[in-house]
Amino acid sequence: MQNVLLAKYGEIALRGKNRHLIENALLKTISKNLEKVGNYSVKKEQGRVLIESREENFDYDKVIPLVVNILGITAVCPAIKLEDNSIENIRAKALLHMKEYCGDKEYTFKVETKRSDKQYPMDSREISTDIGGYIFNNMDNIKVDVRNPDITLMVEIRNYTYIYSKLIKGFGGLPIGTSGKATVLLSGGIDSPISAFMMAKRGVSIEAVYFHSPPYTSDRAKQKVIDLAEQLSTFTGEIKLHIVPFTETQLKIYESVPPEKMTILLKRAMFKIAEKIAIKNNSQGLVTGDSIGQVASQTMQAIEAINSAVTTLPVFRPLCSMDKQEIIDIARKLGTFEISIRPYEDCCTIFVAKHPETKPKRNIIENIEKNIKDLDILIDKAIENTETIIL
Ligand code: ATP
Ligand code: MG
Repeated sequence: MQNVLLAKYGEIALRGKNRHLIENALLKTISKNLEKVGNYSVKKEQGRVLIESREENFDYDKVIPLVVNILGITAVCPAIKLEDNSIENIRAKALLHMKEYCGDKEYTFKVETKRSDKQYPMDSREISTDIGGYIFNNMDNIKVDVRNPDITLMVEIRNYTYIYSKLIKGFGGLPIGTSGKATVLLSGGIDSPISAFMMAKRGVSIEAVYFHSPPYTSDRAKQKVIDLAEQLSTFTGEIKLHIVPFTETQLKIYESVPPEKMTILLKRAMFKIAEKIAIKNNSQGLVTGDSIGQVASQTMQAIEAINSAVTTLPVFRPLCSMDKQEIIDIARKLGTFEISIRPYEDCCTIFVAKHPETKPKRNIIENIEKNIKDLDILIDKAIENTETIIL
């Protein structure tokens, strides 16, 4: 008998020829997350992921959060694994499990059996009745309730037998890799990592672009974004992060445009660069952390004036209707909040006007942009000098 963790994932979304790739990506993400906390083996077992400890202890408190929050995982179940599938052994271990679970508290329960071993001499219903009866006869503090029990004791007879009674739900969503790829504009702020997470929840793989303006933005500001991408990757799987040297482009815009229009033109330059990088890397869309009305550059007029910088790809703004507090609640849950609030400067906060325009006119902005000398050359140069790291 051995303590294990079973992870369930959205099987229905996994029909088709990418299935193996997606399952392998899921296994890789789990293995990578668990490397931090011990020596665990992670393998596929009949439509589930089976996680076993190679040491004596199975540290559920550490392992569960690192698995249950991975997108595409629907639930995890701490279970015991039996090598001996005989009904006598299952009875005895099921009783042990229930005694441990209940202590001396009173509970109602039922037993549910799944039997993928069709050679097994009893059918599912007979097994449930047998084990339920055995437990009932050997414990004083439990009653049977098949309609609405406190505890559903699951018995799964496969190559081995698994017994469990706790099911911890994940975020659900679609497994990463089932819905193409998007490139998120990842700043060091609270919002953009959450926007990436929301896309990933629908099965979209994530790449990220960060605009870095040294010496105005420090190495620590850059490290913060790397840390954010790394934390995100524990839910989304591997993330490619493109770090774009943005100083020259930014200074050029600063010199060339009225201060109240600076932010809009900066954002347009970011969009142009991000779109080119995204297309080069086979992404089908851009993602930003904009939430309507949150700041001057996120009014509907500003979003319109910024968005026309993108010529081909759709731009997704999955946080557009969310309030700041809702976004913060998710950020806390994902562990990105603590990283995002580190106090380092962002390139959007340097040289900005005290009173940025909140209702810019798209045609005026586009005309100003046309007159910025060599902007396209600077943009191409920034792309050429982009550094890419994989997290
Ligand atoms: P965030 O919390 O994501 O930084 P914010 O509320 O601070 O967002 P802005 O700074 O106006 O809002 O940025 C809006 C969006 O533009 C961000 O969510 C992000 O997608 C993108 N963005 C801004 N600055 C950068 C940057 N330096 N690198 C990459 N993307 C950026
Ligand atoms: Mg920001």
